[in-house]
Amino acid sequence: MVVLSFVGLFLLVAFGIDVNAYKSYSQHQLWRLNVTTDEQVKGLTDLRRKAYEFNINFWSEDIRINIPVDVSIGPKSIRDLHEYLSLNKINYDVIMKDIGSMIDGQKLLHQFRPSNLIANDFAYDKYHPLDEIHSWIDTMVQTYPSLATSFIVGQSYENRTIKGLKISSNKQVMKRDGTPINKKKAVWWDGGIHSREWISPATNIYIAYSLLSNYGKDATITHFVDQFDYYILPVFNVDGYVYTWTKDRLWRKTRSKTSNPRCFGADPNRNWDYHWCEAGASRDPCDETYCGSKAFSEVETAQVAQFISDHGDTIVHYINFHSYSQYWMSPWGYTTTKPAQFKLQDDGSAVAVQALGAVFGTKYVHGSIATVVYVSSGSSADWTYGKVNITFSYGVELRDTGKYGFLLPEDQIIPSGQETLAGELALLRYIEEHVYEKDF
Ligand SMILES: [Zn+2]
Repeated sequence: MVVLSFVGLFLLVAFGIDVNAYKSYSQHQLWRLNVTTDEQVKGLTDLRRKAYEFNINFWSEDIRINIPVDVSIGPKSIRDLHEYLSLNKINYDVIMKDIGSMIDGQKLLHQFRPSNLIANDFAYDKYHPLDEIHSWIDTMVQTYPSLATSFIVGQSYENRTIKGLKISSNKQVMKRDGTPINKKKAVWWDGGIHSREWISPATNIYIAYSLLSNYGKDATITHFVDQFDYYILPVFNVDGYVYTWTKDRLWRKTRSKTSNPRCFGADPNRNWDYHWCEAGASRDPCDETYCGSKAFSEVETAQVAQFISDHGDTIVHYINFHSYSQYWMSPWGYTTTKPAQFKLQDDGSAVAVQALGAVFGTKYVHGSIATVVYVSSGSSADWTYGKVNITFSYGVELRDTGKYGFLLPEDQIIPSGQETLAGELALLRYIEEHVYEKDF
């Protein structure tokens, strides 16, 4: 039986927080917990419910036996968490000794390091705030007028524009034997649904720029830009993303008001109207996996879903980019039961992971969401497949496997972009064959 000893933790909660300051993670540590029994799983699940009160932040979404659970912890609670874990016989390693100094160091580097990869005044080897990303989209439209247009999905809860980049060559799609195909298919990629996962917008931007800048120069890229239209939404959760730049680097959810005045936002990847809020989602507004007050309660998810639905007859491939863990996953998330098309989908993942790994040796695991990581219901890839019938729907967890987690250094942006592009091009080749060459 696991005993919860929160008393010590409770005493340490009442510290004033300046809501206008950037949240300090000075002396916060990142711990990796090794869970080996069902009782330990239950103990950590109970702890997670109270986590926000104690400056404990679960970086891992899942708590399962023999899967590492990464948890960050504030300095005042370190001793109590250590005691709690000892009591429950949970071993842990300290992965990062001071998250605050890591965040500060990366900020300094960001400000002062000269970039060696600047095109149109945009540094591809740096993370960028939302306004710069939106200006970058405009720059792409001006620089590549025959290929790029911008599109607006809608407005966020805090009234920011949800803006993406469409790439389309307006070329006739051809089968390999030269037969023309009437209906060009489309691809949707998005990043930043969880705002702290900064590598996901950066990777989308890198890939989009690679497609545009290599069109007409690189035969493979030219081919794929001609064969598909691309809807790329670098930052899905715009309010949360701005919040990570201005208030709290580790914010994950949207920023809507909830029924609890102390807790904000829902998890935009638990808010979709397909097996909404079943297993692996929480009804507690303070939880990191809060599913929202109802399906599509969040205006961001509702509008992206509407946009995808409106283009459902052409979109055949969807990727919801996240970090971290290095997983390439297909439906379902809500159940460990595999869909009938699982082999078709997972073979695509295997192709992607293989090509990705060939670039720098980065290892990705593939499989269904529920079996590779965790059962999680109301996620985007389940909805795009289950409701809109987008067969090649994926959730991808980018670099790394926990050394830096959400704080992946900027010098990994380009390598992440390069390898992910290689994986994606291989997957596009696979998808192209199925949607154009075969009776699909
Ligand atoms: Zn995520």
